Amino acid sequence: MALQTPLAREFPGAIDAKHFVDRTVEMLTPHGFDADNTLGCVGLCRDELTRPLVDHVVQAWGEAFDFSSLGAFPTLGRTGFAAARSHAPTIHGRDRLLILSMPHIGIDRDGRLGWSNRPGQTEATTACGAIAAVINECATGPVNQELDVLDPEQSLLRRRLCQLLPDQDLVGLGIAELTRVIRKAGLDDLERLIADADMERYDYAVFSGVQLHTPDGELVWLADAYVVVSGSRIALQ
Ligand SMILES: [Zn+2]
Repeated sequence: MALQTPLAREFPGAIDAKHFVDRTVEMLTPHGFDADNTLGCVGLCRDELTRPLVDHVVQAWGEAFDFSSLGAFPTLGRTGFAAARSHAPTIHGRDRLLILSMPHIGIDRDGRLGWSNRPGQTEATTACGAIAAVINECATGPVNQELDVLDPEQSLLRRRLCQLLPDQDLVGLGIAELTRVIRKAGLDDLERLIADADMERYDYAVFSGVQLHTPDGELVWLADAYVVVSGSRIALQ
């Protein structure tokens, strides 16, 4: 059980990705959400490892608006969020959104968290590679927090992480705890976008967690889940 121990310790209760998406349907059906009246919005990392979860969401909820970025922060911003909102179906005067916000972490065949064995490669690579790159930069010297127009997402991720934690904490926290911290920060950023928007005609659900890539399959660790119906927030867990 060497592969399971770090995951079970760091992300207790993680469930199969398909099961997670099935659960979103079960949790939201009583609140009037279905595939015909809801637009999925999927905020993951750009990494191709994250795609199986997107595929499950599309199968259950239909085509989804892509909120994804390096590190899974909602860098689509006000304009991207407005576009997603304008694409949602309008049924009896209500529009509905299902929003996933999840950074990711791999575990390789040797049980190392933060690494993943990719098809066709003999050596494991980092996952999330964007987050690992920031940690390495913090470990080796002062980090440039300027916006780089040739590297916009990574420079925004770098700035956001450096604002979140001192360099030594970014390096020393451990990849699992750091991913959980980033998960919460990504949710905070998403909720700021939502608070900035006119949501009067929208009912929406938010699922915030961490995507886990294991040699045995895709898992989701769910941390926060709620639905807002006619302005009232209802916990889903
Ligand atoms: Zn990533």
